[in-house]
Amino acid sequence: MRIRKAAGRVKVRQVERTALVLGAGGVGVSVALHLRRRGWDVVLVDRQGPGEGASFGNGGLIQREAVYPHPFPRALAELQRIARNRAVDVVYHPLALPRIAAPLLRYWWHSAPERYARAVLGQFRLIATCLDEHMALAREAEATDLLRPIGWLQLYGTAERLERARSRAEGSRREFGVNYVALDGPALAQAEPHLLAQRAGAIHWTDPYSVSDPHALTLAYARLLTTQGGVIATGDARSLQQNASGWRVETTDGPMEAAQAVVALGAASKEVTQQFGYAPPLFGKRGYHMHYSLRGNAVLNRPLVDSDAGFGLIPMRRGIRLTTGVEFARTNAPPSAVQLQRAEPIARALLPLDRRVDEAPWMGVRPALPDMLPVIGRAPTHDNLWCAFGHAHQGLTLGPSTGRLLAEMMSGEAVFLDPEPYRPGRF
Ligand SMILES: Cc1cc2nc3c(=O)[nH]c(=O)nc-3n(C[C@H](O)[C@H](O)[C@H](O)COP(=O)(O)OP(=O)(O)OC[C@H]3O[C@@H](n4cnc5c(N)ncnc54)[C@H](O)[C@@H]3O)c2cc1C
Repeated sequence: MRIRKAAGRVKVRQVERTALVLGAGGVGVSVALHLRRRGWDVVLVDRQGPGEGASFGNGGLIQREAVYPHPFPRALAELQRIARNRAVDVVYHPLALPRIAAPLLRYWWHSAPERYARAVLGQFRLIATCLDEHMALAREAEATDLLRPIGWLQLYGTAERLERARSRAEGSRREFGVNYVALDGPALAQAEPHLLAQRAGAIHWTDPYSVSDPHALTLAYARLLTTQGGVIATGDARSLQQNASGWRVETTDGPMEAAQAVVALGAASKEVTQQFGYAPPLFGKRGYHMHYSLRGNAVLNRPLVDSDAGFGLIPMRRGIRLTTGVEFARTNAPPSAVQLQRAEPIARALLPLDRRVDEAPWMGVRPALPDMLPVIGRAPTHDNLWCAFGHAHQGLTLGPSTGRLLAEMMSGEAVFLDPEPYRPGRF
């Protein structure tokens, strides 16, 4: 370990291969791990414990099938449905709209078919490696028991919607090597015998892993980092300052300094990058979860998403986790109960949910960019400032692939995929 303590201060060796990684979510922990295994001295800094941001409470899906990022709706009927603000899958705070209108307009613009095709290609290239990259870290971290190779079910209420989904899934198989099995109503009932309501059927995406405890997975990766000689410190990343030899951040162990800094602060990333002249159009997509017990001897064999309503039900260590779709709100607006209130009765009609297990709903913020791709690479304003954020709906999925790509770039190695689509300077 090459961290040294001088005059009561902990100081990272001032050479090129030293880095402060700001943000210990799934993305930051993965970046730190990949740097460390390339011989970097790494300090991972967060104001909370590792994995307590959005990475804490997500749906736990490592989504090899998610080659199509979530576009902004463009069909008039769909826009009208969302504008009424009564949906389960998308909710907005009207007062927040003026502030987020600009990135949302760009999101709409990037969702036009020809531009969306670019997003799909960028997403596919990164996501194609997600299972292998997670498995490699999980093996080293002795956490493979958290990765369940059971895929997940996407439920449809009508035969027409199911058929459209099957045809899209077939396209994903042909173009992107995604595997699935189409289930009709009876096959779905056989796969999940405790469903209370009938559905026309489901697409069973068979490739993805389902993580039984996403927080435990991030903690396992963080433990691996420290056993390999990385350092985890508590501090506010907004204290980052540039100095003659690189960067300095204040932590409870004293100031930490390194030659390079990586911003992996999820939805809060812009709070730091804009201090240094880089203000990408990052916006937040909030989501909630609540755990439930099941009545009697009921079980749910694998995660499911009700595509008609827009919520997930995932069997986790803590219970059945209901995850909601997207809420647009001002950054510091208090959590609202709306999405769970709307989703819970539908979920109860679908599965014999019993009591709520958590005292209060958990809320997390998905960090999103208008072109639906993350930012991975060198900040346009500084040679020694790097970015790894904006993974939106797939940050759990993409953490290890992002970590590897960024560490290869920072180390001057051949990169395992073309980083151009994720270039921070593209905005
Ligand atoms: C309801 C829901 C369901 C989801 N389901 C899935 C899923 O099934 N699969 C999937 O792949 N993705 C899913 N996601 C998305 C995924 O959770 C996020 O994309 C991912 O967690 C982002 O990881 P991150 O490391 O970039 O950010 P975070 O996990 O939010 O980490 C950022 C870290 O930065 C720290 N931080 C922020 N500001 C500061 C500061 N000033 N100083 C110090 N530290 C700071 C925070 O404490 C936090 O630890 C879901 C998200 C939600 C909300």
